[in-house]
Amino acid sequence: MRARRSGAPRIAILGGGIGGLAAAAFLGKEGVAATVYEQAPRLAEVGAGLVIAPNAARQLRRLGVLDAVRERAVQLDTGWEFRRWADGTILSAEDLAASCERLYGEQTYTAHRADLLAAVQSQVPADSVELGRKCVKFEAGDGVLRLTFEDGDPVEADVVIGADGVHSIVRNAIFGASPATDSGLCAFRALVPAERAPAFARRAAQTLWIGPGHHLVHYPVSAGAFVNLVAFAPAGDFTTESWTSTATVEEFLAEFDGWDERLTDLIRAGGTPARWALLDRAPLPRWSEGNVTLLGDAAHPMFPFFAQGAAQAIEDAAGLARCLAEDLENPAAALRRYEELRIPRTTRLQDVSHGRAEINHLDDGPDQQARDAAFRHQDPLVANGWIYGYDLEAEFAPAAAAKQ
Ligand SMILES: Cc1cc2nc3c(=O)[nH]c(=O)nc-3n(C[C@H](O)[C@H](O)[C@H](O)COP(=O)(O)OP(=O)(O)OC[C@H]3O[C@@H](n4cnc5c(N)ncnc54)[C@H](O)[C@@H]3O)c2cc1C
Repeated sequence: MRARRSGAPRIAILGGGIGGLAAAAFLGKEGVAATVYEQAPRLAEVGAGLVIAPNAARQLRRLGVLDAVRERAVQLDTGWEFRRWADGTILSAEDLAASCERLYGEQTYTAHRADLLAAVQSQVPADSVELGRKCVKFEAGDGVLRLTFEDGDPVEADVVIGADGVHSIVRNAIFGASPATDSGLCAFRALVPAERAPAFARRAAQTLWIGPGHHLVHYPVSAGAFVNLVAFAPAGDFTTESWTSTATVEEFLAEFDGWDERLTDLIRAGGTPARWALLDRAPLPRWSEGNVTLLGDAAHPMFPFFAQGAAQAIEDAAGLARCLAEDLENPAAALRRYEELRIPRTTRLQDVSHGRAEINHLDDGPDQQARDAAFRHQDPLVANGWIYGYDLEAEFAPAAAAKQ
């Protein structure tokens, strides 16, 4: 569908998570209005902490919110501090304080998701967000895009952006339900108040304890007020893919029975953990159909082993806004350009994230010894330069130069 002659297209963004709000914020920066429809009665993030890598920080700076994020985040001095499960021996560590900004022009931060969401939301006019709007049906037919909600009037739009997460109703409507397979893994997450956390966990460090079939990552968030724990373990028959589902501290502890006591004490100090089954989905070859597209987890759910899901949603949002703003008269062409720009990168990230669990979860033995020996020569900050050094602006630079 082409934009209405009488004015700018009506853009509906379904989902007010980090991706949907970032899309509204970046569109606003380009002078393009959009309305966000979010099912929750208020904007809030569950799931505790996340890593803001330099590529995400770069986009947050462009959006003008990096300073606000930094106020409530923790700037990491150390990243990828790998420790052995049984005794905490440090296998390798990256000196981010010395290298990150020099290599990529930005630092790495850890933040509570609610703080990141609030900073992004500050760039979206309040009257552009409709809360308590659970979409129950999306139809794209006869030149009309229609969203039907559990409560309130239906909405017709000229452009629809499905930023409605891993269970996307928009994705299912245009491409069919994407079949998920069992990965065999689940994630536990918990927050430990800083006053209950030992000194090693309060450092400005991202630490990964790795061992047979499991690994656990911790880092401080909320300006150091909490330590965020996220751990990966066999899922058994647990298949619920939702942050609202919980486990008990005892269930979490049972997964790490026999590990270094400093780690099990840390788990014990946390509140009720959330538990999330990691389901596996193949990358989509296309995200757009006419004037409808996908963004963030709706488009490319990925395993969290490269801590890039939210970062990619933010990059999507920035890229989508540029493509739409440059071709507002022809949204379908803009959305095709957007997916061509983004799919190769997010597919590569989906693929590499997928492979990581096996390496972290080796049983003790010759393969584990070879892995641990190799750690000494690894430099993840440099090796992952394609992730952290990526600059979306460069993708648009030739077009901008041609216009001059
Ligand atoms: C264990 C774990 C650790 C992670 N760690 C990191 C990390 O360190 N760094 C990082 O960058 N990423 C991380 N991620 C990934 C990150 O959490 C996601 O990629 C990111 O939140 C996706 O954002 P989104 O806006 O696309 O989707 P979501 O955050 O899922 O938001 C979707 C929104 O849509 C709304 N919605 C859904 N359906 C409807 C409907 N029918 N009607 C109306 N509204 C609807 C939801 O309420 C929600 O607000 C991690 C993920 C996991 C599982």
